[in-house]
Amino acid sequence: MEAWMEQVRDAVNTLDKLKEYINVTPDEEKAITTLHTKWGTTPYFASLMDPDDPNCPIRKQVIPSMKETENRYGIPDYLIWKENRDGDEKRPDAIARQYYDRIAFTVTDVCANYCRHCFRKELVVDRDLKLRMDVDEGLQWIAEHEEIRDVLVTGGDPFILSDDKIEYVIRKLREIPHLEMIRFGTRTPIVLPHRITDGLKKILSPFHRIPIWVNTQCNHPKELTDLTAKAVYDLLTCGVNVGNQAVLLKGINDDVETFRELHQKLLRVRIRPYYVFYCEPAPGIDHFRTPVEKGAELIRDAIRGHTTGLAQPMYVIATNIGKVPLMPDYYIEGVTEKEYLLVNYKGEKTTIPNIPE
Ligand SMILES: *Cc1c(COP(=O)(O)O)cnc(C)c1O
Ligand code: SF4
Repeated sequence: MEAWMEQVRDAVNTLDKLKEYINVTPDEEKAITTLHTKWGTTPYFASLMDPDDPNCPIRKQVIPSMKETENRYGIPDYLIWKENRDGDEKRPDAIARQYYDRIAFTVTDVCANYCRHCFRKELVVDRDLKLRMDVDEGLQWIAEHEEIRDVLVTGGDPFILSDDKIEYVIRKLREIPHLEMIRFGTRTPIVLPHRITDGLKKILSPFHRIPIWVNTQCNHPKELTDLTAKAVYDLLTCGVNVGNQAVLLKGINDDVETFRELHQKLLRVRIRPYYVFYCEPAPGIDHFRTPVEKGAELIRDAIRGHTTGLAQPMYVIATNIGKVPLMPDYYIEGVTEKEYLLVNYKGEKTTIPNIPE
């Protein structure tokens, strides 16, 4: 059995197993024994937890909390709203659509790590939302819609599927003439880097007209290890670019030092920051949410001008009408017929001429 399969088989998902890694607090124990929720992680990711600090950023993403029962701001039936599942266009459950030329294709509801802040909680963690994840039905819909050029394969975590299934999805997608790219959204480079095996590399590897891109999710610099660095390098050697989609999480990455260190360290392991998401108004995750302005402030105070331009993600909120950028809009302070007044990250000012059309 491959190492990654052992990691999945030996998932840390009971109180007893968790106690092998950390000193469980009474609050954590109460949530684990009271809440009916899917939780758990890989032994590898569990080993990154701080045994003595209940505020450890990895513990907070992995261990259930009684705060998940509070819900002041979450939108009920969130995924139905967010993924436009009650609109006029009839689509298979596996297809979520917000844009004309690209879709999200849900191929599984299984994950290597059941993130407590997951916006797909109803499907993946709480499991009250049942979707038919029929891959062939989804493939047929994509084949019939010639306007789709970009398919984002998601879940759950699509890299939790077997090599054979991943190979099948890629092969079938590449048979569709109007497709131009395939993207995978997977947390495995972070929570299960062992998944990037020689077998998977072979599947991803050969040059093909249709490129494969991977976006992973890393929210704190502690999640980046040598194993992740190697997994990312291996993906790159297969021609697969790796980006990051972080979630802004209160008490985890919403301070200037952590936010900057996260984005610098991502580049150190060859992951290109792509998005930082505002924590979505899904039910039961209020305790992770910051004010909307927080992300833009962090980009302004921690990233822009302060470090390598490549480290800069786009700050967005994902909604039912697509992703809406929330970048700090402070660089054009004023405009006259003659010139633009520009401001940099330090508040310094300069002018450039205003060229008429
Ligand atoms: C996020 C998302 C996409 C991809 O958006 P990009 O901005 O192109 O990365 C496509 N479809 C759906 C339904 C999505 O949620
Ligand atoms: S890996 Fe993704 S889909 Fe799975 S629980 Fe985490 S955020 Fe949700």
